[in-house]
Amino acid sequence: MLRLRELSRNVEAVLGEVAEKFSTYQQQQGLNCRAGCGECCLQPTIESSALEMLPLALHLFDQGSAEHTLQQFEQEPLKQSCMFYQKLSFDGRKGQCTVYQQRPSICRMFGASGYRDKMGQTSLSVCKVIKADHPEHYSQSLIMLTSTPPPLMMVASEALKELDYSFGNNLQPINLALKQALETVLFNAGLSGYDDDTQIA
Ligand code: SF4
Repeated sequence: MLRLRELSRNVEAVLGEVAEKFSTYQQQQGLNCRAGCGECCLQPTIESSALEMLPLALHLFDQGSAEHTLQQFEQEPLKQSCMFYQKLSFDGRKGQCTVYQQRPSICRMFGASGYRDKMGQTSLSVCKVIKADHPEHYSQSLIMLTSTPPPLMMVASEALKELDYSFGNNLQPINLALKQALETVLFNAGLSGYDDDTQIA
C-alpha cells in the first residue's frame, strides 16, 4: 500500500498542475463553463485510466466505502455515465460532481484543450455548450492559436503515464477505470493489512 499511496500523491500532483494550466487558459480566453452545467459528466464516452482513479479509490478506501462501491458495480449493471455525477435538473443537464477533488484529468481538460491535428498542427477543442455561450471568444481563441496556444491534452496524458505506464496506459470508461483502481487498492490492502494503511493515510 505504501507504493500505491506514493503513486497516488504523484498522480494528485500532476492532476493539480493539469487543473491549474487548463483552467488558466479557459479563463484567459473567456471560455468559461456555464454555471452548474454537467453536460460533460452525462457523456457515456468519458474515459480514464485506473491510474487516474487511484486517488479516488484510496479516498473511498479511507472512508470505508471501497467495498460497498465495488459491490454496487456487481449488483447493478454498470452505468454508462459517471456514477459520481449528481443530477440537479430533470433532464440531468444541470448537476454537480460529488468527487470534485479526486476527479481525473479528462474532467479537468474537457472545456477547452489543445490537440495535434493530422498535419501535426495545434488545434483547439471546445465543449459545444461553451462554444454556444461564447462564440466571439471561441473565434478569437482560434485566431490566437499561434500566439496563445491551448495546453495540449496529450502532454497531460504523457505526464500521467510516466508515473506508471502499465497502470496508466489503458483508457476505459470512467466507471470501469474506478472499478479496476478499487480492486487494486483492496487487493493491496489485503496483502499489507488494514492497520498499516490507516497510519499512512
Ligand atoms: S468525476 Fe466528477 S467531473 Fe468527472 S465525469 Fe464524474 S461527476 Fe463529472
